[in-house]
Amino acid sequence: MSIVQSRWRARSVRHRFALLRWSKGLQVVVVGAPLTLFLVGLASTAATAAPEIRLVLQITVDQLRGDLPLRHAQQFGKGGFRYLLEEGVWYTDAQYQHANTETVVGHASLATGTVPAVHGMIGNVWFDRDEGALLYNVEDGRYDLVDENAGVDRATEIDPTQRLARSQGRSPAAVLTSTIADELAKRYRGESKRFAVSVKDRGAIPLAGASGKAFWFSKRSGGFVTSRYYYDRYPQWVSDWNAEGRAQGYAGRSWELLHPPEQYRFAGRDDQAWETDVAGFGRTFPHPWGEATSRYFTTLLTVSPAGDELTLDFARTLLVAEQLGQDAVPDYLAISFSSTDYVGHLFGASSLEMEDNLLRLDRTLAELFALVDREVGLKHTLIVLSADHGGPEAPGYLQELGQPKGYVDASALSPEALNPALRKKLGVEADLVTSFFSPYLYLDRALVARSNLDLGRAQQALAEIVLAQPQVSAAITATEIEAGRLAEGPIPRLVAANHHPKRSGDVYVVFRSQEFVNDFDGLTVTVHHGSPWRYDRHVPVVFAGNRLKGQRVSRPVTPYDIAATLANRLDIEAPSGAIGAPLPEVAR
Ligand SMILES: [Zn+2]
Repeated sequence: MSIVQSRWRARSVRHRFALLRWSKGLQVVVVGAPLTLFLVGLASTAATAAPEIRLVLQITVDQLRGDLPLRHAQQFGKGGFRYLLEEGVWYTDAQYQHANTETVVGHASLATGTVPAVHGMIGNVWFDRDEGALLYNVEDGRYDLVDENAGVDRATEIDPTQRLARSQGRSPAAVLTSTIADELAKRYRGESKRFAVSVKDRGAIPLAGASGKAFWFSKRSGGFVTSRYYYDRYPQWVSDWNAEGRAQGYAGRSWELLHPPEQYRFAGRDDQAWETDVAGFGRTFPHPWGEATSRYFTTLLTVSPAGDELTLDFARTLLVAEQLGQDAVPDYLAISFSSTDYVGHLFGASSLEMEDNLLRLDRTLAELFALVDREVGLKHTLIVLSADHGGPEAPGYLQELGQPKGYVDASALSPEALNPALRKKLGVEADLVTSFFSPYLYLDRALVARSNLDLGRAQQALAEIVLAQPQVSAAITATEIEAGRLAEGPIPRLVAANHHPKRSGDVYVVFRSQEFVNDFDGLTVTVHHGSPWRYDRHVPVVFAGNRLKGQRVSRPVTPYDIAATLANRLDIEAPSGAIGAPLPEVAR
């Protein structure tokens, strides 16, 4: 009997046990099950009983499109991606079912097991109608950073969404539903330790949930920081780690290729005109990080594998210092690796930089799994790895392959461009469009009311104007969604799953496939994700550890299933908004 058959039998019998437990019609259920099969299954189930879970390790790789680890599978070393590929349950067709595939949206979806329409994190930035201002997703003026000198430096911050935040304070207050970390807290009377770490605040805060502890990297201080939501002062181990100056160790050095050039599939293609030429960092290897005193030194660390290495180093210290996974109460550690996202933005998915970044990430993962095995034991650790979103290819790369793709002209969506047409169409004097902040266009709703216009009609008129632009594929209004008048089809469904009536804008704009805005407030990048197209929604979902048996599953699943599956394995309640289902290859 092959392993596959034996496993199938084991599962089929487990399924019958489940029915037995829940059904009083015992006889009906058992009838038809051959006795031999039953006995084989019984033995097999007992033999594969999983050890207790002492640690849940939830890894997120920012912008890791689902196909990328498989593309480079033959190049990986031992213990990292190869361990996941060979010994993990790897879902090759996991797709988000929401439209705005941005970082906080994905991280919150992984933490809560639901869509942004429910958890409320509809974009990295949204317009707060009460405040009358754009709001950065995890900003919270009530909770300043513990180290007040470690906040965002607007002069050197390259992330335009960070520059929008009105305060340095951060908290998870905007996440509207509970997370896996929160449910662990409830189940174990708060005794379960819960931590999240990332270079990005928005990569850590949603996963720590309302009740865990989050740390993220400060480009200003070169250390990891947190806010007063979590701590009044740093734990000693955090102060010690920051005092060691690990980031400074990269000063004067460069990001170089891990292996000899001939081992890379993109070796002859390092210098591409479409890649972003960040001053001092360049388009080709080696990419110098510069001296510690240079303005962009820490920024350049984050846009290279160094950011992930620092994240691992901090997480390693955390795991040991906080004694995670040392007893029968399961602890939770979420780590989000951000380098893949920055490298993707600057160089694209098919670049020598992305290739080397993934090989270095593989090494980082191998070190992490070795550490966890040493400190906790992989058999007592349930690992899940996924991504917050995928990413597109560079239009220049596609052009070279005979696919005529280009960038979107965002100025065509500015209030200045749209207001004259909207005035004419509605026969009013007022300028109703206030802003376009991808993916939403916003109207001045008070002005719409004062102009005696129906909001739905104003939105519809704007949608029609926008849809007439060749670069726009769909324009969907808030009223269509809220009134249940949405057209059938996959794109409207994805946009509706992204819609929160208090936070979403008036018109959701979808650009043509493989075309996107690349100019953000002066920063030009090679690629940008955030679309409802498949390459932005497709991510890996892999479970490993805890004596799971390796297999590859091609059945379509969603990343929302992760929270439900973790809840199943941990015997805890699923998060309050969770819509996913436990994945049967992992669930008990
Ligand atoms: Zn991201």
